[in-house]
Amino acid sequence: MDPLDWIGDELERLTASYLLREPTVISSTSGPEIVIDGKPLVLACSNNYLGLAGDYRVVDAAMIAARRWGAGTGASPLVSGLTELQRELEGKLAVLESVEDAIVFSSGYLANVGAIQSLVGQGDAVFSDELNHASIIDGSRLSRARVNVYRHADADHLRSIAARGGYRRGLIVTDSVFSMDGDIAPLAEIAEVAREYGLMTMVDEAHATGVIGPGGAGAVEALGLGDAIDVKVGTLSKALGSAGGFVAGGSRLAVWLRNRARSQVFDTAPAPAALGAAKSALDIVAAEAWRRERIVELRSLVVDDLREAGFEVGSSDSAIIPVMVGESRVALELAAAVREAGVFAPAIRPPSVAEGAARIRLTVMATHSDSQVEQIISAFASARPGRAS
Ligand SMILES: *Cc1c(COP(=O)(O)O)cnc(C)c1O
Repeated sequence: MDPLDWIGDELERLTASYLLREPTVISSTSGPEIVIDGKPLVLACSNNYLGLAGDYRVVDAAMIAARRWGAGTGASPLVSGLTELQRELEGKLAVLESVEDAIVFSSGYLANVGAIQSLVGQGDAVFSDELNHASIIDGSRLSRARVNVYRHADADHLRSIAARGGYRRGLIVTDSVFSMDGDIAPLAEIAEVAREYGLMTMVDEAHATGVIGPGGAGAVEALGLGDAIDVKVGTLSKALGSAGGFVAGGSRLAVWLRNRARSQVFDTAPAPAALGAAKSALDIVAAEAWRRERIVELRSLVVDDLREAGFEVGSSDSAIIPVMVGESRVALELAAAVREAGVFAPAIRPPSVAEGAARIRLTVMATHSDSQVEQIISAFASARPGRAS
């Protein structure tokens, strides 16, 4: 008997409950149009919101950085050195976020895990929105602090939990834009609770960096709350079209993370190509506000038209548009029908979302053409909601 036989049993269970997932192999860049099995499809689920992953300037910057700095970095910054390239990128991120310093990680996932684990420990408390990203959940568990989950976007519930006390340090942590619903956390009210109880605040801007705020710094900037938020996390992997993550804040915080965030200390510094690409993307974010404006335009167009076609669409404040379905099986059928009509946007099922909350998570990109957006809308309209229920 093979000791891994249990995996086969588990996989059968997943398949039977419509929860087995496998990545679709694509043969193109992840732009507004992708190619699957030789067939072009409109991509309507990417987090490459500004279309920069395939932008020739960003790709050129990656190649130039690789030529100048090499393909890899060889060790973590504390061991074999921090390249000037990475330090320049960190400086640019600090400027974007209007803070003293920023530190780059190999991914946003690692930025969250490292930040939380270095800010709280045994005897401390994390206060976490129930819909926070998996990397926040994992970082909270790793920290060994007590994790207190509050109802989604409910600052009153947060306050009532924080008021119980019994902890040394407390950290409130929330996504700014929630990844599966596209709504924005009530950051002003959360900051108020933090002030009342002397808690640290950490906001994950993964879906907001480059997309939201007049300068693309995120929702904290858009709401004018820069001074009220202690720790800002962002990613280089979504709107910035590259790979990596960062934490931005005061210089003490940066020095602390450089020393104590295990995902920084024990992780090889990101590849120069990724750093160079992100630097170039930041220049484009600053210079081309039209990309953010187009996302706002396209979102309202798609939301209005899908509602008119009878779909239940959540209340999004970002590039993310949840088309709510419910049952995993129905979500899979809708995704298949939409794909038949030339649009790629897969079903999102548990555990990515709650049981019974399966959906298609649509995203609009600044580089979607008008006709591509029309194709997305008509693909859904012809799939008709509820048809399979
Ligand atoms: C994608 C995401 C991350 C992780 O960022 P990566 O750079 O992809 O590792 C963190 N937080 C949220 C809310 C995300 O959506």
